[in-house]
Formats: sequence, C-alpha cells, structure tokens
Amino acid sequence: MKDRLPVQEQVDLQAFNSLHVAATARYFLELRESTLLEEALAWAQERGLDTLFLGGGSNLVFAGDFPGLVVHMAIRGRHWEQIEDDEATLVLGAGENWHEAVLYATRSGYRGIENLALIPGTAGAAPVQNIGAYGVELCDTLVSVTAFDRETGQWLRLSRDECRFGYRDSLFKRNTGRYVITEIRLRLSRSKPLQLGYRDLEEYLASLPDREPDALAVAEAVMAIRRRKLPDPQQIPNAGSFFKNPVISEAEYEQLKEQHPDMPAYPQSHGVKVAAAWLIDQCGWKGYRDQKVGVHNRQALVLINHAGGSGQDILALAGRIRESVRERFGVVLEMEPGVVGGAGLPPLA
Ligand SMILES: Cc1cc2nc3c(=O)[nH]c(=O)nc-3n(C[C@H](O)[C@H](O)[C@H](O)COP(=O)(O)OP(=O)(O)OC[C@H]3O[C@@H](n4cnc5c(N)ncnc54)[C@H](O)[C@@H]3O)c2cc1C
Repeated sequence: MKDRLPVQEQVDLQAFNSLHVAATARYFLELRESTLLEEALAWAQERGLDTLFLGGGSNLVFAGDFPGLVVHMAIRGRHWEQIEDDEATLVLGAGENWHEAVLYATRSGYRGIENLALIPGTAGAAPVQNIGAYGVELCDTLVSVTAFDRETGQWLRLSRDECRFGYRDSLFKRNTGRYVITEIRLRLSRSKPLQLGYRDLEEYLASLPDREPDALAVAEAVMAIRRRKLPDPQQIPNAGSFFKNPVISEAEYEQLKEQHPDMPAYPQSHGVKVAAAWLIDQCGWKGYRDQKVGVHNRQALVLINHAGGSGQDILALAGRIRESVRERFGVVLEMEPGVVGGAGLPPLA
C-alpha cells in the first residue's frame, strides 16, 4: 500500500510552516485526491501512528518532531455551482491556496470574501478557526464543509450551523483531528453590500480617488494595508496573530477601564473584547528581540522567528508575554495557533 500511497520518510517540515521552525515528520504524504484519504488513515492506523493534517502551516507551532504521519492536504480544484442571476456557489478543494481563491472570486465579479485577502493558508483550514479580518469572517459566506469524520468513519456535508462557528472557533477546532476537510462551499453574490466599516479600510479607501470601490478594489486595499502592517512570513517567519483578543466580563472591563481609560474595547453579545495587541504593547514587548526570536516592532501580536529559533523558543517567549499580561491586567491570553509535536505554553506561575 505504501507504493500506492506515496509516503515519504523523515521529511523536513521547515518549509511547511510559516514560523520556519525545524521539525521532522516520521512519515509524510502529499494527499492530492480525497479518494485516497481512507487508505491513508488505515495505513497510519495499522502502524499505530498519529496523523496530522497540514495545510500551509501558517497557524501551527511545531514544538518538536512529529512521530506519526503528516498528511499534507493538497487536494486542488475550484468550480462554480448553482449559478443564478446574482449569486453563485464557489467550490474549493481543501488544498487550494486561500488568497488565490479570494482573487479568483473577486476578479470573477463576486463579493463576500474580499476582506479576507492575503490571509495565508489553504481553503481547507479556513473553517477550522473561522478565519476573519476587516469585519468579515468565513462563516458569513460559507454554506457547507465536506469532511470525513474519523470517529464514525462517515463522509459528511456539514451546513454552516452544524460547523458551530464562533470567533476564531468552530466544531473542527474544538475536535482537533476528528474531521478531515476535503472541500468547502461559499455562497457569493455580485451585488451584496461591501463591508467597508472597519476603520483602517475606511480610511484607506477614502484616500483613493475612486469613491465607488468594487470587490477587487477592496481586496487590493486590504492587501495594501496588510502589507504595511504585517510581516510577510516568506521574509520574516511568523504565524500571524499569536494570541486571540480576550473576551472579558463587563464587570472586569469596567474595573480595567478605570485604570486604563484608553484601552481599546469592543462590546460583544456576552462580555467585552479587548485588544490583545494593546495589552502586550503596554507590557513593553513590542519590538522585543532576543538572539533568535522576538515580537514584531509594528504589531505586538506577531511573534517572529528571527534566526533559527525553535518552536520551544517561540513558546517560551509567548509564555513570558502571557505571564506579564496576566500580572499587569489580570487577563489570561489564549494562544491562536495550534501546537504540534510537544506541549503548549509553559504553565502560568
Ligand atoms: C502573516 C499571517 C497573517 C495571518 N492573518 C490572519 C487573519 O487575518 N485572520 C485569521 O483568521 N488568520 C490569520 N492567520 C492565521 C492563518 O493564516 C489561518 O489560520 C489559516 O486558515 C491557516 O491555514 P493553513 O492552511 O496554513 O493551516 P495549518 O496551519 O496548516 O493548520 C491549522 C489547523 O488546521 C488543521 N487543518 C489544516 N487543514 C485541514 C483540513 N483540510 N482538514 C482538517 N483540519 C485541517 C491543522 O491540523 C491545524 O490544526 C495569519 C497567519 C499568518 C502567518
């Protein structure tokens, strides 16, 4: 079966994660067809191996080597379905590059995902943490996810409601490893209103001569803003926002606001979301650098692997940041990326 499944051994994963940390996969499979998924799972099970489903590796920290089978999700393909006057469904294979899919949709005249331009990674990973940016989340347009449920051995087409999306959260994130996503469907429209309310985006578009932007102009604006603010992982290895914005209770917020009246905060249906970047910045971490790893000098949420740092180095720094934010504000930050091949953040003191 190993011949039918092109499994490789001892594969270096440095090029497969945006933090560029060194790690080795004991076994590695490039999965190009969903029809081979069950065979791949059986192959790993026969050998008692764990499996990791890997997209672009832009939301993962390799804390060490992975002793099992890494399945690199490379199922490609995109097409339109149910094309009507105004709306159409875009079907994306899990291995499609997300940003290229955004450009493809917007250039085809469809709206709905333009604010999500330049988010690294694959279409198949997008529902895992319900990617979001500039006032839009994947769940705003997602209609279904095709996935294999490893617990029941069944193929499913999960509706948006069944995916139980939340802020950077989903059924898939809460059941890591259970569902393997092979395809997603997005319902896009030619005429729905563009989401321009996010402050940076509004200001950027106001500075342009064209006052009636289309979806492509919005995608281009988002790309320009992101390039200005966020380091490109190809040049400065990072995993995007390292911590989620914490949601605290109204009572906690009122108490903090008294001491920190300028703290950015966004009321939610339950509690108040506060800006993790601001909390970290206030603790003096922005631009911090040791020999190998550090914090970006323009965005305190982004941890950087400057020079050969390991996943452990990154996690140790993240642990120190979390500790200092807890000490100063009493708020416990939660990591956004997943940890593979070792333990997560060091425990709080
Ligand atoms: C510079 C930078 C900027 C970023 N900006 C944003 C942003 O604005 N908004 C945002 O939400 N995120 C952002 N991210 C995070 C990241 O881009 C997203 O989380 C993205 O969806 C991860 O895709 P990936 O293919 O790289 O996933 P990976 O890192 O490969 O995997 C992430 C998780 O999903 C699982 N997974 C991957 N593919 C599948 C599959 N097919 N089936 C089941 N499970 C799977 C993995 O096992 C893992 O648990 C940013 C990251 C970087 C580096």
